[in-house]
Amino acid sequence: MKLLLIFTHLFILIAQCYSKEELNLYSARQEVLMRPLIKLFEDEYKIKINIVSAKANQLINRIVQEGEFTNADILLTTDVGRLHIAKEKNIFQKIDSTTLTNLVPSNYRDKDNYWFGVSLRARLLVYNRNSINKSDLNGYIDLAKEKWKKKILVRSSSNVYNQSLISAMLIKYGEEEVKKFLKGFISNFARKPSGGDRDQIRAVAAGEGELALVNSYYFLKMKSQDNEKKLDHVIEYFPKDNFMQTHINISGAGVIKNSKNKENAIKFLEFLVSNEAQKIYAEVNFEYPIRKNIELNRFMKIIPTIIALFLFTAYLISSDTDITISNVKVMKRNKPSCDRLGNVYDACQWMLKFNINNNTQDDLISFCSVIKVNKKKYKLCGNKAKKKFHTKANNSTVVLTNLSELINYDNESPKPIVSFISLNGKF
Ligand code: FE
Repeated sequence: MKLLLIFTHLFILIAQCYSKEELNLYSARQEVLMRPLIKLFEDEYKIKINIVSAKANQLINRIVQEGEFTNADILLTTDVGRLHIAKEKNIFQKIDSTTLTNLVPSNYRDKDNYWFGVSLRARLLVYNRNSINKSDLNGYIDLAKEKWKKKILVRSSSNVYNQSLISAMLIKYGEEEVKKFLKGFISNFARKPSGGDRDQIRAVAAGEGELALVNSYYFLKMKSQDNEKKLDHVIEYFPKDNFMQTHINISGAGVIKNSKNKENAIKFLEFLVSNEAQKIYAEVNFEYPIRKNIELNRFMKIIPTIIALFLFTAYLISSDTDITISNVKVMKRNKPSCDRLGNVYDACQWMLKFNINNNTQDDLISFCSVIKVNKKKYKLCGNKAKKKFHTKANNSTVVLTNLSELINYDNESPKPIVSFISLNGKF
């Protein structure tokens, strides 16, 4: 009997040990894309990963329904909106890992550390350079213009990549502009949306349309495999105008609240942002690493515009809560009847004064916003190099901007109404 008890205890112990060395990954990323990373992790940590692949919404709903009985340890998605929904649905838990907070820049992770970004992708335009001049291309909103009639290719609006882009456009351009844009954009389609991003690229190459809206990694991968030079005349363009730069999205993951393998789950997240895993993201998947010090693969390096623009645009997705604006005042200065602000000038000028509050642990080195002055929108940026401001971690700086210099707002005009529409900072 005693022997039986010892065996039973031994069995339970072995079973417990074994169950600790597993990890259940609920992934909205295709298994084939995750395979090289998972293999490396399994070999290095001796932890077996079981993958459940499905669309992010299906996985989120399943985890919600399974509640405390779920087997899920990690949810991995390819869209920041889904990560936000998962947090809102209370299926993630807060993770306290200095490795993650040190390696993942604060603008690529949840402010309360419920999820962490692991890679980046841009939604860019690819176009036929034989029929379109680069100088004719502009920001996303320009795609509604008559000149693009029967030229545009894009996958269906039911796809999350398009939905995220439109959400970003709503913030940057406002609802009215986006409504108008959608009408024009749809009327410019070369064909009814069908297929995925790769199909749109093939259709540009085949001349079915002249430009397509696609994710960067599809295009980069196809270009790198284009031994027959079928895509030689198809090149990339990063849409940008005064209101919006190229839309960049985050792939990321969080640990499930009811995870039975929390320690292994954290190990896997830490592994995903390690040098070796980040290198694989860049080299195998053609996604941009979340960290800046990662060597990019040969092919990504020979498209210098992509890298340069990546560095420039990546900060635009920073969370609105990382920086906040307070004490916004519009006032006139200098003349006796004016408020006295800063140095004394000849004219009684309209000034915009506000505080930038840096709510992160990192120094804020540049800042951009779209401001609305009466009914028009303008871009307002500043950086450390121009000595406009330098906001230390968890600190606040006063910014004073002359509206007549910034936007030619006439000093004789009535007091304008100014509001901030978007906030982006680089840390
Ligand atoms: Fe994709």
